[in-house]
Amino acid sequence: MPDPASQSGSRVTEAARVEQKNPGFLRRILELFLLLCATLAALFFYKEAEEKQSQKEFLEAELRRARAAGAGDASSSASSKCSICLDNPLEVMLEPCGHVCLCRDCGDRLGDPSCPMCRAQVKKMKNVFLSS
Ligand SMILES: [Zn+2]
Ligand SMILES: [Zn+2]
Repeated sequence: MPDPASQSGSRVTEAARVEQKNPGFLRRILELFLLLCATLAALFFYKEAEEKQSQKEFLEAELRRARAAGAGDASSSASSKCSICLDNPLEVMLEPCGHVCLCRDCGDRLGDPSCPMCRAQVKKMKNVFLSS
């Protein structure tokens, strides 16, 4: 009757001998492991690319919305914002040409006293108060 311990022992030595005779076995395990890593990496990059793509789409939508808002803003600001600093409201009328295109600050800073719209010489600046 064979001893089970010695039998398993002989099996282990046999496996070791097979491994020694055949080092490709370890290499195959390594290859499988690398393949697994590659698959995981591919999955990871795929996920990341997908995320980037959705992020890009989101940014593009946002940009389009901003551009649409900007266009709407530009059409309204053309008539209600200072044409020099594009920030302050219109506050002075240039005389005699009658253009209302500047804020008080830019009117005061206007070194060369000519209208930025029509280049007419500015003789006077009049405060105006635009409603809305
Ligand atoms: Zn201004
Ligand atoms: Zn003018």
